[in-house]
Amino acid sequence: MCLLALTALLPGLSMAALAAGDCAAGPGTARVLEVDPAGLEVGTKHFPQTLDLAEGEFVLTFDDGPSAGTTPMVLKALAAGCVRATFFLVGTRAAESPALVKRILAEGHGIGYHSQTHPMTLADLPYDKAVRDIERGIASVDRAAYGTATASPHFPFFRFPGFGSSPQLLAYVAGRNMGVFGADLWASDWEPMTPEVELELVLTRMAHAGRGIVLFHDTRLQTARMVPALLKAMKERGYRIVHVVARGVATAATPQ
Ligand SMILES: [Zn+2]
Repeated sequence: MCLLALTALLPGLSMAALAAGDCAAGPGTARVLEVDPAGLEVGTKHFPQTLDLAEGEFVLTFDDGPSAGTTPMVLKALAAGCVRATFFLVGTRAAESPALVKRILAEGHGIGYHSQTHPMTLADLPYDKAVRDIERGIASVDRAAYGTATASPHFPFFRFPGFGSSPQLLAYVAGRNMGVFGADLWASDWEPMTPEVELELVLTRMAHAGRGIVLFHDTRLQTARMVPALLKAMKERGYRIVHVVARGVATAATPQ
């Protein structure tokens, strides 16, 4: 409890990093960006607009987990680099690995929802069925994180599988007070490739984009193996990591 409280006061540090005592393996978390989830729709692969990021600033996001085999590898690398990310969790997987969901939270990362069964896509389902899948996903993640699911979602963000939204579903999610994340670039890590090739690909895209929300899958072994080298490369290039939270969540001790 004490360590958790301490971590909450030091947003740039995870529990593991506190234990390790340094952040040499990565660029750290440069700043926390507070957003109002109401009506938030960001990420140019899905929407016309994105987050207000400066040149060289990136938000790291990981989808489809948690996965017992690979998510701990990603968490370890993020902790070693004092990097905070956002994990968009699939409900069925959260239900299978509640301890990992709690660990993601305890290590200072953000959580968002990514539906219960990851239909491709929610927009292709009948509306009622899509809403049911969204709601079951919220309840599964909340139960995994806190033991209970209440009327309001615990977490402020949602990402549509395959970015498959409809105006009706976007209105529904907004009505549940969740902001919607798309992405600005990705590692194409659903394609099989070596960690080295994936690293090269995503660094090229980061250099080209200059800033943005980056989408990875912590369920992919090639990505889990790549993250340590990615954080090292981001540090060398002077890139800065931005951690996005809902307004009012960040403490006064925002890292500089
Ligand atoms: Zn997904």
